[in-house]
Amino acid sequence: MPKKPSNERHCSFCGRPESQTKMLIAGYEGCICDACIAQADIMIKDSLGPDKNVKEINTIPTPQEIKQHLDQYVIGQEDAKRVLSVAVYNHYKRIKYCAEHHDKNDVEIDKSNIIIVGETGTGKTLLARTIAKMLDVPFCIADATTLTEAGYVGDDVENVLVRLLQAADYNVAEAERGIVFIDEIDKIARKGDNPSITRDVSGEGVQQALLKLLEGAVVNVPPQGGRKHPEQQMIQVNTRNILFIAGGAFDGVDRVIASRLKSNVIGFNGTKTRDELDRHNMLRYILPMDIKRFGLIPELVGRFPRLTYLNPLDRDALRSILTEPKNALTKQYQELFKMDGVTLEYEKAALDAIVDTAVEYNLGARGLRSIMENVMTDLMFDLPTIEKGTKIRITKKLALEKINNSNINKSLKD
Ligand code: ADP
Repeated sequence: MPKKPSNERHCSFCGRPESQTKMLIAGYEGCICDACIAQADIMIKDSLGPDKNVKEINTIPTPQEIKQHLDQYVIGQEDAKRVLSVAVYNHYKRIKYCAEHHDKNDVEIDKSNIIIVGETGTGKTLLARTIAKMLDVPFCIADATTLTEAGYVGDDVENVLVRLLQAADYNVAEAERGIVFIDEIDKIARKGDNPSITRDVSGEGVQQALLKLLEGAVVNVPPQGGRKHPEQQMIQVNTRNILFIAGGAFDGVDRVIASRLKSNVIGFNGTKTRDELDRHNMLRYILPMDIKRFGLIPELVGRFPRLTYLNPLDRDALRSILTEPKNALTKQYQELFKMDGVTLEYEKAALDAIVDTAVEYNLGARGLRSIMENVMTDLMFDLPTIEKGTKIRITKKLALEKINNSNINKSLKD
């Protein structure tokens, strides 16, 4: 304990002198510092446990409603949307049922954790985030590549839950029904015969560590994240009702699928012949055995009962992404301009040129934003000085001029 100087007030709990605290609050017979208040707050929330302070999910949206909601924000990806809608519906039905029947139900319903396989930038995170927002539950994104086995340099697997706790404002009961998106799950595949896997051997250890989170256990979480140490006050989080959605590009898994199909084409789904297969999109035939072959351990694959895929985004999809979602990029800029009293319009050919650039340089959906930024930046720079009531039209000529002068174009041409 720090030494008490005679003339300085100190925290009655940890003994810190006022000068070493951010704030010291005086009470009837003593004082308490900001750090002890924060610690006490965590202990209170922890010990009150579930059903205090938890928003109820009263009406669970139906799979159709979930899908309709996703349709407003995510273009295409029909199969993934249907799988996700059903999985999420079942998941929250299960939570509600267990709560109402106080766990006395005879049939134990398994969790509906999901793996989404798809190229980067095709909407994996967007899907997970959109669902979490719709349900108004805590949501966090964890990057599997930053995780390590306990004892190694990097984040302990429990840190995934620290983010969820933060998203839930440290309301443990809220966090316990949240959604965790684990990105780049493919990067912790163990080294197999697949040449595209470059990660080290510890991948398998991380997978083992993740199992504990996924199987619905009570996990000790260090409140501030980082490494665990013995004196630290831990928050206990039960992961039983946390929905895990994992995403990964699984580069090279198409070859695994192709070789499986090649040896077993006749009779695939009972209907497909070799010629009928969609060779440009092998992912649509993905099965759990393929991601096992890719290097995820069977136990981990088993904890994700749902597996779905995303289609690569073609030109039409990119064109739709630019204008159609509820918060499409074009709509966002129109809103920004409206705030300054200026009406923004786009020539159809200008939008086509923007999409063409994204396609030409293989920039995907993320590239659309940087291209749009390049087209719009000068206008936005001048926006506050433009007279209110003005109409601005983005023409193809203007769009191309900005794109041609932009860094995107220059850096990619070199
Ligand atoms: P991933 O997680 O698959 O790498 P993201 O979900 O982060 O990709 O997508 C990157 C961005 O691209 C999103 O924020 C979104 O703006 C856009 N995007 C990608 N796919 C779609 C889609 N299918 N519909 C609408 N927007 C999309």
